Amino acid sequence: MRIRGSVAIDLGTVNTLIWVAGRGIVLDEPSAIAIDSGSGAIIAIGAAADALAEKEPQDVNVIHPLRDGVIADLDATAEMLHGFLGRAGSSGPLRGNALVCVPSGATWVERRSVAAALEARRRYSVQLIDEPVAAAAGAGLDLAAGAGGFIVDIGGGTTEVAAVAGWRVVRAESLRMAGNAMDEAIVNAARSGLGLILSQRAARQLKAELGLTGGQDGWAEAVGLDAARRTPRLEKVPGELVAGALEPVVNAIGRTVQQVLSDIPAGLAEDVMRGKVRLTGGGALLPGLADRIESVAEISAVVAEDPLRCVVRGAALMVESGYPVRG
Ligand code: ADP
Ligand code: MG
Repeated sequence: MRIRGSVAIDLGTVNTLIWVAGRGIVLDEPSAIAIDSGSGAIIAIGAAADALAEKEPQDVNVIHPLRDGVIADLDATAEMLHGFLGRAGSSGPLRGNALVCVPSGATWVERRSVAAALEARRRYSVQLIDEPVAAAAGAGLDLAAGAGGFIVDIGGGTTEVAAVAGWRVVRAESLRMAGNAMDEAIVNAARSGLGLILSQRAARQLKAELGLTGGQDGWAEAVGLDAARRTPRLEKVPGELVAGALEPVVNAIGRTVQQVLSDIPAGLAEDVMRGKVRLTGGGALLPGLADRIESVAEISAVVAEDPLRCVVRGAALMVESGYPVRG
């Protein structure tokens, strides 16, 4: 297949990454688009759009079009992707293949619609690929040699748990619970436990700092609104409050890991044991999560290198290795 002019795209629920052949990763931005609700004009995409979220500027609608792992707003998704590709500098006449990872919670129709939008507006030959396969390749498993492995990709909207072998999924489950659900759980716990209304951004910071372990100090500062007075308040948030809030989500992830692991074919057991459970996606960075999954799975679990970029790196490897692309 032609590699020049090819791109690999990780269209994630929270972050979108684009790799261009010969140039590497050229774009890494939040999956967000801000639209003027009066005129319908696009105000911003990516980081600039995400920065406006929850701030409620007048007549601005900030959309995270893939938020829960489904393509909730196809037009917004297509506009966002079009804008990202323009920014990625893919405006030359050369058009190669586009390997695109979309959340596996998206329906076939939704996925095809994204592909069709890209083909129509950008003239790429689009191939949709399974996210866990890309994650596995990006996490260092040598799938080209027919090896297999076990991947837990914890993104924003979904957690993908999968056994893979030779560029294919063997067994997989997609759980509609991941980083966003963790953020929501922290927001709810802070409100009921501390009378503090947090933004998702503030909840995210607490999650990354305290996680399941309580971090360095066992607490972290956060600014929110006092629930009664509705004025800004600085609070020391205890690690136990955050760990307790995260428990149901982490439990659900653990159960899904157990379920998929208990269903793998015997021929894959050695590959999985040797390769360890590999954690990818931003959620892999949650303090204490790898240890928890290790104790649930009863085999070693490791966080892949640079877990937020595994999927796009893996998709890039698939382009470079001449992964069989139709057409
Ligand atoms: P997606 O593929 O769905 O776009 P990503 O793999 O980009 O998701 O991961 C985004 C998620 O990872 C977000 O929910 C974000 O809050 C979370 N995340 C990022 N860094 C950390 C961290 N250090 N600890 C816990 N969660 C994190
Ligand atoms: Mg992802």
